[in-house]
Amino acid sequence: MSTLDPKGPSGLKVLNHAANPAPTRTLPQAPPAPQIDEAPIGAALAAAAHPDKVRIREVLAKAREARGLSYDDVAVLMSVTDDEDTSLLFDTAREVKEHIYGKRLVLFAPLYVANQCCNECTYCAFRARNSELPRRALTTAELERETRALIDQGHKRVLLVAGESYPNGSFDYILDAIRTVYGVRSERGEIRRINVNVAPLSVEEFKELKGCGIGTYQLFQETYHRQTYAQVHLAGKKRDFDWRLSVMDRAMQAGIDDVGIGALFGLYDWRFEVLAMMQHIRHLEQSFGVGPHTISVPRIEPAHGSTLADAPPHAVGDDDFFKLVAILRLAVPYTGIILSTRESAANRRMAFALGISQISAGSRTQPGGYNDLEGADAGQFAVGDHRTLDEVVRDLCELGYIPSYCTACYRLGRTGRDFMDMAKPGDIRSHCDPNALSTFAEYLQDYASPATRAAGEKAIQEILAGFALPVQNNARRMLQRIADGKRDVCV
Ligand code: SAM
Ligand code: SF4
Repeated sequence: MSTLDPKGPSGLKVLNHAANPAPTRTLPQAPPAPQIDEAPIGAALAAAAHPDKVRIREVLAKAREARGLSYDDVAVLMSVTDDEDTSLLFDTAREVKEHIYGKRLVLFAPLYVANQCCNECTYCAFRARNSELPRRALTTAELERETRALIDQGHKRVLLVAGESYPNGSFDYILDAIRTVYGVRSERGEIRRINVNVAPLSVEEFKELKGCGIGTYQLFQETYHRQTYAQVHLAGKKRDFDWRLSVMDRAMQAGIDDVGIGALFGLYDWRFEVLAMMQHIRHLEQSFGVGPHTISVPRIEPAHGSTLADAPPHAVGDDDFFKLVAILRLAVPYTGIILSTRESAANRRMAFALGISQISAGSRTQPGGYNDLEGADAGQFAVGDHRTLDEVVRDLCELGYIPSYCTACYRLGRTGRDFMDMAKPGDIRSHCDPNALSTFAEYLQDYASPATRAAGEKAIQEILAGFALPVQNNARRMLQRIADGKRDVCV
């Protein structure tokens, strides 16, 4: 058991947030560039037009073993249309989700640092030609205020987001921003993990990013369909499909082995996107021995100055959205799936059970949004869940989930393949379950409203009772340390 204390007064183990904790490894060489082969996707989609109930059941039986699915299996599940098969698909996804993740849901908040952008993505409010959008790159002092606002809500993990145009044209702005966020200390806590969603980088830039101690590098391909990609990205560096597709290879070559992929659902047929994503995952596994740490499933939301976002060309309805979450959960059972506040509270509740493992809460999608800085009223897109973190947390408890603020794995070097090697035989749960409870207890004591604290303490007792005895005993010891005033207690 460790007390991960960045200030270092009392801990059994002292970690420096700004230093990457992962042990030194030989960096991987450049593999062949990733390709999306559209022909087999077309063939699989054509075959999926004729559902075969026997084959669907075979695939679901295989999925229940929680060892993942092949590309062809995924294509079969996309043929599910009738109610009976759909409810079987959902039941299987719920079972696998529960088996691997228990009742944990990891919480984070996006932290937008700058919204200037050189690109012309037709779905995004930040696009260069959207002249009516107020532009801002947070100063160090503003960023410290934003970070403090998030810490004071109880957040421990943020996703740093920016458009692709930094002050003075220098990527150093992002590196400085990361150092600033890690450096903020509030009386009540600190940010312990920064994940980053910024435009594709070179291997050298990724090495600098890794040197700042980031958690996951995340980037969405938007659409894996090359022709659609060209149609919706009208100007700027982002027009280069291949530079974007190969970004995770460069991150991995630089030693960042927790990477997050995603597609912006609504630009093209969601079935195509999921199968193409499977090709991307297979490429990463074959090239680096590990697939993505997370997959994000954003759906296009209305955005200031975007007609495309008001009426996406391949809008994904709720039923298909739930299906794609369930299929991804079965296809890559150990890969985190992230759901943002783009979705409504009701849709989020449904999707949690089907496979979501990480969620944002209390989000603002514009720089300065957490302090209502002047001009910070137009976000990148409209959010669907407007509740505060406290309200989301209470709802999760009432639904039987345990919100987790755990950041232990990457700080203890359990990343990339090492993480997957622990996760696949199920060993990770003996870490994640107690860590979720201890970090949640910390949240309840330091930040929660009385109603949320009551709901949370009840939820902790219920979850604790369901743990196997050794894990339960360990968790009880950790909870006692939190009650005694220790913080950041993890295994
Ligand atoms: N500028 C970088 C980029 O484009 O990769 C990183 C940050 S960008 C602000 C983060 C993501 O927001 C994009 O990858 C895109 O998928 C998503 N996004 C943009 N417009 C959106 C919209 N209208 N609805 C939902 N998500 C949107
Ligand atoms: Fe810029 Fe990213 Fe928005 Fe495109 S999606 S306009 S690159 S911020």
